Amino acid sequence: MAFFNIDSIKDRTFDAIVIGSGISGGWSAKELTGRGLRTLVLERGRDVKHIKDYPTTFKNPWEFPHLGQIPKELRDANPIASRCYAFNEDAAHFFIKDNEHPYVQEKPFDWIRGYQVGGKSLMWARGTQRWSQYDFDGPARDGFAVEWPINYADIAPWYSYVEKFAGISGNKDGLAQLPDGEFLPPHEQSCVEKHFTQQMAKHYNNKRPVIIGRCAHLTQPQPIHIQQGRGQCQNRALCQRGCPYGGYFSSNSSTLPWAQKTGKMTLRPDSVVHSIIFDEKKNKATGVRVIDAHTKEMTEYYAKIIFVNASTLNTNLVLLNSTSNRFPNGLGNDNGLLGKYIAFHNFRTTISAEYEGFLDTTTEGNRPNSSYIPRFRNVFKQETDFLRGYAAGFGSSRMMDTDKSGFGESLKANLTQKKYGNWFVNSHMMGETIPKETNLVSLDSDLKDAWGIPQLKVSVAYDDNDEKMIADFHQQMTEMLTIAGFKNIKTNDRPDKAPGLDIHEMGGVRMGKDPKTSLLNKWNQLHSCQNVFVTDGACMTSNSTQNPSLTFMAITARAANHAVDELKKKNL
Ligand SMILES: Cc1cc2nc3c(=O)[nH]c(=O)nc-3n(C[C@H](O)[C@H](O)[C@H](O)COP(=O)(O)OP(=O)(O)OC[C@H]3O[C@@H](n4cnc5c(N)ncnc54)[C@H](O)[C@@H]3O)c2cc1C
Ligand code: SF4
Repeated sequence: MAFFNIDSIKDRTFDAIVIGSGISGGWSAKELTGRGLRTLVLERGRDVKHIKDYPTTFKNPWEFPHLGQIPKELRDANPIASRCYAFNEDAAHFFIKDNEHPYVQEKPFDWIRGYQVGGKSLMWARGTQRWSQYDFDGPARDGFAVEWPINYADIAPWYSYVEKFAGISGNKDGLAQLPDGEFLPPHEQSCVEKHFTQQMAKHYNNKRPVIIGRCAHLTQPQPIHIQQGRGQCQNRALCQRGCPYGGYFSSNSSTLPWAQKTGKMTLRPDSVVHSIIFDEKKNKATGVRVIDAHTKEMTEYYAKIIFVNASTLNTNLVLLNSTSNRFPNGLGNDNGLLGKYIAFHNFRTTISAEYEGFLDTTTEGNRPNSSYIPRFRNVFKQETDFLRGYAAGFGSSRMMDTDKSGFGESLKANLTQKKYGNWFVNSHMMGETIPKETNLVSLDSDLKDAWGIPQLKVSVAYDDNDEKMIADFHQQMTEMLTIAGFKNIKTNDRPDKAPGLDIHEMGGVRMGKDPKTSLLNKWNQLHSCQNVFVTDGACMTSNSTQNPSLTFMAITARAANHAVDELKKKNL
C-alpha cells in the first residue's frame, strides 16, 4: 500500500502517536497534548464515552435478566474471561470475547483484556500504592533481573503529580516500605479490620502494619477534579459498570477528556496497530501501520515520537511484530531479550476466617475499597528461604444466615428476614514473582488473528519460589489471625489456577542501565530507537508487591515530559 497524495500524508502526520488509550495511554495523551503536541491516539477497540456508554450504570438489580450472573452459554463461550472475578452481567461488555482474540497458551495463562477506549481503566479495582526504594532495590539485592535505572527519588515527584490529578484516597501511614502520597481523606476500616490492625501493631511491635487501602476514588474532590467534570464518590461500589459521577479515576473520566479539551488530540477508535515503521536512513521510527478493525484496510500514520501503551503483553506483541532489515527480530531487539522476563503477581491463594465478636455492629452501605497488609517479608533484609515478598488485601463483612425452613407464608417470612452471622474476613495474597528469562512471550509462526497479525504465544508459569511464598503466606496469616482471635481459619490454594488473573503482568521490554541486558533506558526510550517510548507495564524491570497502575501513570508522565523536552531541544 502506498500513499502518494501529499495532502493525505499531511493529514496523517502528527507530532506524537500514542498506541492504546488505557491507563498509561491516557496519561501519554494528556501530557503530550498538554505540552502542545498534536497527538494521535490509536485504540484498537470501540469508542466508550464517559457516562453515555456505561449502559448498566443506573440499573437496578432486578433489571438484569440473570440477576447479575453470567448465563452458562456466555460463560462456556468465554472460559478465560469467566475466570476473572469481575466478569459479571453488569460489566461483561467491557471484556473482550475470548474467541475473537485468540492467543497461544504454551503454558496455561489467563489473559484478561478490555479492548475499548479507556482499556482496563474502566474495569480495574483502583488499588493504588506507591513503590518504595526497597522495591527498586529488589533485583540488585538478590541478583534476579537487572538493576533498575531509576530510584524512588526519580519517580516520587511524578507520583505526587499523577496522584493530585487522578485523586487518590489514603491515610498517611508513615511506612518506609509504602511511601505516603498526596492523599484525599481515607475510607474507614470496619471494626474488625481496626481490631486486626491494633492486634498486629501490639503483637509485632508495629512491624506488620495493616492499613486502609489507598485507592483512586474522590473522597473529597479538589478543584482540579471538578475541572475534569468529576464529582464525589458516592460509595455505591458499582464501579465496574463505569461511574456516572466520575468518582473513580479512568482514562474516560479524566485524562482523555482533559487531552481532548486542548484541541490537540485526535482519537481514533477501531484502529488496530499492526507495527511500528522504522526508517533505516533516519535511524528512527517514523510512524505506525494501522488496520481498520472493521474494513481491515491498512493505513500508515506518521509522527516524530511514538508512545507504546497497548498494555504489557500487547506492547510486546506490537514491538515483536515491528520487523525491518535493521531489526529482524522486533523493534529495538538487538540483544534478543524482547518478550522475555515477564513477571506477574502471585494471586493464587486466599485465606478466610471468622470473628465471633462485634456482633452488635455491621457495615452500613458500601465501601469501594478494603484494608491492605503491606509487604512485611524480606523488606529490609533477606529473612526467608524465598526471594522477595507479598502484600495482601484484607476485607471484612458480616456473614448472612438465611433460614430456609417453613412453608408458604412462614417460608417467605424466614427468607426475607436475613440474620447476621459472625464477621467474615478474607485476604488475598499479592506476591512478587521473579522475572526470569524463561517466562516469555513470542509470536506464533503460523497462527494469525482476524487482522492478519501473528498470535501471541505465552509461556509463563509459577515456580518453586512462588510455592514457598504461598506456604509462608498461609503460615504467617494463620498465625496472625489466630493471635487476633479469629476462628475457622481456612486457606484456599488453587494450584490449577493459571497465572494471569492478577491482571498485573509486567516486563518483556524492561528498563535497565545496559543496552546488552535491557531494552529501554531510564527515560523509557528504546536504547536503539530513541523516539519510541514504552511506558506501560512492559517497561517494568521487576514487579514488587503493590498494584502497579499508579507506577505506570507516574512513569508515563515522567517519560512524556522528557520526550517533549528532548523534542524541543531537537534531540529526537
Ligand atoms: C478486574 C481488574 C482489576 C484490576 N485491579 C487493579 C488495581 O486494583 N490496581 C491496579 O493498579 N491495577 C489493577 N488492574 C490492572 C490495570 O487495569 C492495568 O494495570 C492497567 O489498566 C494497565 O494500563 P495499560 O495502559 O497498560 O493497559 P490498558 O488499560 O489495558 O490499555 C491498553 C489499551 O491498548 C489497546 N490496544 C492493545 N493493543 C492495541 C493495538 N495493537 N493497537 C491499538 N490499541 C491497542 C487496548 O484495547 C487498550 O484499550 C486491574 C485490572 C482488571 C481487569
Ligand atoms: S463507589 Fe464511587 S466510584 Fe464507584 S461507582 Fe460509586 S460513586 Fe462511582
